[in-house]
Formats: sequence, structure tokens, C-alpha cells
Amino acid sequence: MHLHTLGSATLLLAISSFAFAAAPTPSPQLATCLKPLGSKVITSKSSAYAQQRYAFDLRYTFQPEVIVMAQSETDVQTAVKCAKQANIPVAPRSGGHSFEGYSIGGQDGALVLDLTGLNGVKVKGSKAKVGAGVRLGKLYLELFNQGGWTINAGTCPSVGIGGHALGGGFGLLSRKYGLLIDRIVEMEMVNADGELLTISATQNPDLFYALRGAGGGSYGVVTSFTILPVKPAPKVTSFSYEWNLSDYAKVLKAYVNFQPTASRDVGVEMNVASSGLELYGIFQGPKGTQSAAMASFLKAAPKPRSSDVRESRQIDAQLRFAFVEGGNNDKDINALALQPPYHPGDSRYTKGKSLVYPSVLKSSTIALLGKWAAKTPKGSTANYIIVDLWGGAVSDTSASDTSFIHRDAHTVFEFVAEWDESSSPKPGKPDCKDCLKWMNDMYSEFLADYRANYSTSVRGYQNYIDLAMPNWMDAYYGQAVPRLKQIKASVDPANVFRFPQSIPLK
Ligand SMILES: Cc1cc2nc3c(=O)[nH]c(=O)nc-3n(C[C@H](O)[C@H](O)[C@H](O)COP(=O)(O)OP(=O)(O)OC[C@H]3O[C@@H](n4cnc5c(N)ncnc54)[C@H](O)[C@@H]3O)c2cc1C
Repeated sequence: MHLHTLGSATLLLAISSFAFAAAPTPSPQLATCLKPLGSKVITSKSSAYAQQRYAFDLRYTFQPEVIVMAQSETDVQTAVKCAKQANIPVAPRSGGHSFEGYSIGGQDGALVLDLTGLNGVKVKGSKAKVGAGVRLGKLYLELFNQGGWTINAGTCPSVGIGGHALGGGFGLLSRKYGLLIDRIVEMEMVNADGELLTISATQNPDLFYALRGAGGGSYGVVTSFTILPVKPAPKVTSFSYEWNLSDYAKVLKAYVNFQPTASRDVGVEMNVASSGLELYGIFQGPKGTQSAAMASFLKAAPKPRSSDVRESRQIDAQLRFAFVEGGNNDKDINALALQPPYHPGDSRYTKGKSLVYPSVLKSSTIALLGKWAAKTPKGSTANYIIVDLWGGAVSDTSASDTSFIHRDAHTVFEFVAEWDESSSPKPGKPDCKDCLKWMNDMYSEFLADYRANYSTSVRGYQNYIDLAMPNWMDAYYGQAVPRLKQIKASVDPANVFRFPQSIPLK
């Protein structure tokens, strides 16, 4: 997702002065059970509650019964056992970017397990052990500092590895190395009984299958990931090209036709908005070879109105698209290690939806992109559609190896509306009605086009989770659903890990 830098720290003040309705308080039994965790337990009586009860999207004002700021696996184990005993749902929170506020419960009364304190990154040999509360920016920086490594994951530095990895994890290195889940070799997870399990191809293989695609919040709290980092090319080329929106038909046609033959060294996304089209990405190689790799696309597309192609290290290219404070000109890669309150724009008002396309886009779909990008809803600060080129190594793994089913995706759309990007956004303001209308009207036209031209089984990307997604379970998990339910029933029969779109028991 494209980021718009937010002014930052005033958020904390704005949040703490926000008045909220009476919040649930833990029962005496739960309070006693959590006592060993001391000040790591935050309730509505604590001053920290006013800040910690929110996550990235300030639309969501669910009131957790209790928030536990875990510092260790043992803290997670204690908290889960207490929640199970008290029969309240557990909501693990890594980076807090859930599109539906699920890491604050998705409903009132959850026990939020904040994992920010589990933020170690340690490279040993060809593996890295990463705490589940680490944000992507810090992860990139640590991997770089510990031997020049990186990892195939998303662009936004404030997204947490927890939710991101467990729902797939797509980024500008995915065409070369696959999804983030494809580089996970082991996880540690606290289950509903508070036991710490090791999960890999040989230990708890059912969970290894389920967590890699459908893991966000449904099966347990993952406390660490062991991943295989990758070595980027010594010199990479980051690029952006821009066109007026009036050129959309030719640009998008060239773009989608480029996908099947594009080099795996090309990682690329296209932002389609009323201000124009922006194609941006990173090529694994020097500038000279980048122009050759992009040649067939650039030849087929109209001449861009502007371009900016830079050769650098991978880490500089990542910083360029991270939109951290200081913007594109920030030369200090340390800015990637965001500090709380996490910026850029760690909080905002937004609504997102997605569609996963199994084949090259038809001209009717391209026409819809042009039509809807041209509209600017009243009150919106940004509204756009991101068209990601998938393929390459994403499709090397079979759709039955993990619970991630979209292995054949050609392109994935992310529809985004944002509003109220002030420097001190207050939580819980009324929605931007026009923004949501733009989103819903647009989406129903795309759905009709999808059903008519691609498939009646519409698919969406679970990392852009949406409560209004038609047949959401099939759309996100398809043929994996029966096995996912079976695994859920065997590892969490009391449904401790539940939220409005968790994997059900049956
Ligand atoms: C600004 C922005 C940019 C994005 N860019 C990309 C991108 O480039 N590529 C991409 O693929 N996606 C992208 N996403 C989507 C992102 O991957 C998902 O929103 C993801 O779920 C966020 O993870 P999180 O840990 O930050 O969120 P959280 O809200 O903390 O978690 C999301 C879900 O996972 C669960 N969860 C979190 N941690 C754990 C854990 N340790 N164990 C078990 N369950 C857990 C939560 O309970 C919740 O249900 C972006 C989202 C945003 C808002």
C-alpha cells in the first residue's frame, strides 16, 4: 500500500484526550489470574488504555477488556491461559494493521495480546529468528546490518511481521522469492492451552500448513518466525514512471501483458488514481539491465510524463518506498527502524478491499479502473487502486502445500480510500460517507465484471481482509477450508481464538 507521511507524534495527545464510553473491566477472577504480569496488564482503569486500545485504522473503537503488553513467550502463555479460563477471546496484535481492527478484537471485550515487546531479530548462518512483534522496517534494517540480507515482504515499514506473514505477505521481491510464508521454516506458537509449540514441516505439520496463509488470529499466538533471508543483488534499480490518467487504457494494457514474460528480477506495482498512474518497483540488478528488463513494457506503453530511475543498494531502494518521515529524500536507512508512536502514518482512517485475478485483465476491467480512479469522493484525502503484478516465484509453490490458495494470481487489486490524514487524527470520528460510497459502488461493478469475465468464485487477498467480502471464507481460503476447519477443531476446540472472520470450528 502506498503511504502518505503523517505529521506524527501529536497522535498520542489526541488519543489520550478522546472521551470514550464505559469500557469493560476484567472480572475479579481474570484480574487475579493476570496478576503475575504486573504492569504489563492494561485495563480501562489504566492511563495507557486510551492509547493502547487503538491500532492503525482509527475507525475501529472496539473496547478490549484487557490489553497485555507481552515481553516474553511466558507472558503470552500466562495471558492465553487466563483468557481461556475467563472465556474471553484472544486477539494477538503484531503491527496492528488489520483492515477490520481484528488485532483489537473486531468486537468489544477481547484480551489483546500486544507483541511489540517480542522484537528481536537474530541472524545465525542462513536463518533468521524474528520476534512476532517486529515491524517490517526494523526487520529490513536488522537483516541488512547482520550480513547484508533482506527478505521478500511488503513495502510499508510499520506493518508487523505477525499478521503480514500469516496471511501470505507479498512485496517487491515476491516475483523472485515468492511470498513471505515461502521463506518460513519454523514458528513458535502458544496454543489455546498456553503451551509453546514448535511448528515446522516435521513438527505439528498441520499447523505449519494452516498458519501459512490462514494463520492470522485463528489458531494461536505465533511468538517467533524462523525465516530464510535472501541476499539482494549488490546493485539494484528502484524506479518510478508516471502517466496522466488519460493514458490509462494503453498503460494498463501494456502492464498486464508484461506480466507473463516479465523477468522475476522485476518487482512492480501500479497505483491508479485521479492524479495519474504511477508504476514503481525494484529491479534486482544495475540500471543498464533494468532498462532491458522493462523494455517490452516501456515500448508498448505511451511515453511517461516523468520517470525517476536510481541505482542503489536494496536497503536504499526499500527506504525510498517506505515514505518514512523525511520522505523520499531521507538518506538515513536507520529511519526504517520506526519508533513508537510508529510512523509514517501509523494511524489513519481507511477502507480497503481486494480482488485476486487469475488471468491477464480483460479490457472491460481496465475500463473500470480508468472510470473509478477518475472519481474523487468528497472528504477523501486519497483514493486509489493498486494493481500488483504477481506470478513468478509466487506460483512455484503448489496451492495445496500451504493454506494460501492464490498461487495462480496474475494480478491483485487493492482498492483504497483514505480520509482525515491530519497530523493529529482523533479516533472514532464518523466515516467519510462519500469515500465508502465510492468504494462500494466501485466494488460492485468490479464484482459483476469479475463474475462475467473470470469466474463466479470471486477471490480476495486475506491480508486485505474485508467483512463485506462476498462468501469471504471461499474467497480467501477456497479449497483449503475443510482442512482449515478440521485443524481448528483439533487445536482450539474451545474457540479461544475467535473474531468475526476467524476460521470456524465447523
Ligand atoms: C499501510 C499498509 C500497507 C500494507 N502493505 C502490504 C504489502 O505491501 N503487502 C501485503 O501483502 N500486505 C500489505 N498490507 C496488508 C498487511 O499485510 C495486513 O494488514 C497484515 O495483516 C498486517 O499485519 P500486522 O501484524 O501489522 O497487523 P495486526 O492487526 O497486528 O494483525 C492482523 C491479523 O493477524 C493476527 N495476528 C497478528 N499477529 C499475530 C501473531 N503473532 N500470531 C497470530 N495471529 C496474529 C491479528 O490478530 C489480526 O487478526 C498492508 C497494510 C497496510 C495497512
